[in-house]
Amino acid sequence: ALVVRHRMRSSSNWARAEAILRELEEKCSTPIDKLRQVADAMTVEMHAGLASEGGSKLKMLISYVDNLPSGDEKGLFYALDLGGTNFRVLRVQLGGKEGRVIKQEAVEVSIPPYLMVGSSHELFDFIAAELAKFVASEGEDYHLSTGRQRELGFTFSFPVRQTSIASGSLIKWTKGFSIDDMVGEDVVGELTKAMERQGLDMRVTALVNDTIGTLAGGRYYDNDVVIAVILGTGTNAAYVERAQAIPKWHGLLPKSGEMVINMEWGNFRSSHLSLTEYDQALDDDSLNPGEQIFEKIISGMYLGDIVRRVIWKMAEEAALFGETVPPKLREQFTIRTPVMSAMHHDTSPDLKVVGTKLKEIFGISSTSLKTRRMVVKICDIIARRGARLAAAGMVGILKKQGRDTPPSAGEKQRRVVAMDGGLYEHYTIFSKCLESTLSEMLGDVSESVVITHANDGSGIGAALLAASHSQYLGVEEE
Ligand code: BGC
Ligand code: MG
Repeated sequence: ALVVRHRMRSSSNWARAEAILRELEEKCSTPIDKLRQVADAMTVEMHAGLASEGGSKLKMLISYVDNLPSGDEKGLFYALDLGGTNFRVLRVQLGGKEGRVIKQEAVEVSIPPYLMVGSSHELFDFIAAELAKFVASEGEDYHLSTGRQRELGFTFSFPVRQTSIASGSLIKWTKGFSIDDMVGEDVVGELTKAMERQGLDMRVTALVNDTIGTLAGGRYYDNDVVIAVILGTGTNAAYVERAQAIPKWHGLLPKSGEMVINMEWGNFRSSHLSLTEYDQALDDDSLNPGEQIFEKIISGMYLGDIVRRVIWKMAEEAALFGETVPPKLREQFTIRTPVMSAMHHDTSPDLKVVGTKLKEIFGISSTSLKTRRMVVKICDIIARRGARLAAAGMVGILKKQGRDTPPSAGEKQRRVVAMDGGLYEHYTIFSKCLESTLSEMLGDVSESVVITHANDGSGIGAALLAASHSQYLGVEEE
């Protein structure tokens, strides 16, 4: 709990605010040697997570994807993407090597918040109903071979213990979802039952994490994609691993010799992360205390709320907004990351945007320029810490792949990271900082590391994987 100090003259209040800022800055600092320690810790945990089930905070989940799209995928496929505040449904007509993506359409539906914390039945009924509507709108120009069932790639962006490419059980919820009766249940089974209740004849042939979908979608367009990173509501990464380097994998060695791993890096934790009292409080108040610590200092669901907590402390202890503390400052998530981003990117000389936001959200009628500058500084500290730590995580993966050194003669010269998520896409200062930190850490090697924005690649990726795992594989198309 916060202690309300005596309010003294405003000059000493301001000194207190500055002291709070300085302390924040210090605690959140991420000098390069610290980032290297984070990258090293990431590599170490990756090894541990691959060695044995439960061997690390990093679950290093086996995706059962041992072949990424080749371009030969053909036919009509659907994809459903669930995992953030919206879900998307997509249909795509794939034309194989020559045709590629002949036609695609998608719709996005926002999920009513009550469904994120209700029952699985309700959530899946809602989704299946929207999917059924979408399927019903399929135009003449899509073509399904006669007698075939429609097939779906299901992107489910939570940690899932897979038992095959098209089945797996939910390990836990993240990102504000909390539906107890789903944990441990077969995700595909639940969706299939809901589709049946809707009278929708469709089969899930691939269940994938959004990172896996993004990797697959990225690879379809660029052969050099070897890593996928999501920076959105939540954060995570996936990459291509050598099957031989996965001691906990007891299945057959895939022909490709490779296996895609869903790291679930959001749950990474290390003493080198620059955690503060605000992070601690945010974690305590969260739906999943003690979990997803990396995610809680990096991703879009949380960044704004860290900023709110700092401002709140300044309001309580340094009377940042005068004698009374705006009540909404005490409420979780009243500063969303898009608002934080808007304030952070405010280029008007008098920081008009900051003033307007503070007024709109908290009812603070007027603020001094000094105060508005303070708010921007807080945003800057929190955003940069997140971006730099995310970059360190990426370096950890490159290290694990042996790609953190210059490519040798026989090796591919490009290493491409397919990146997606609203935070990366819309928070420019964050993404620029991430990119410059990568260069800073990788030196010359950064020239061979390319980041591509895989715009909603996970949808098309899931459809591609649904195609390559179709029940009709090998059956002649007519
Ligand atoms: C989930 C991951 C997901 C990531 C990005 C995290 O909260 O645990 O499975 O990939 O968010 O959507
Ligand atoms: Mg997405």
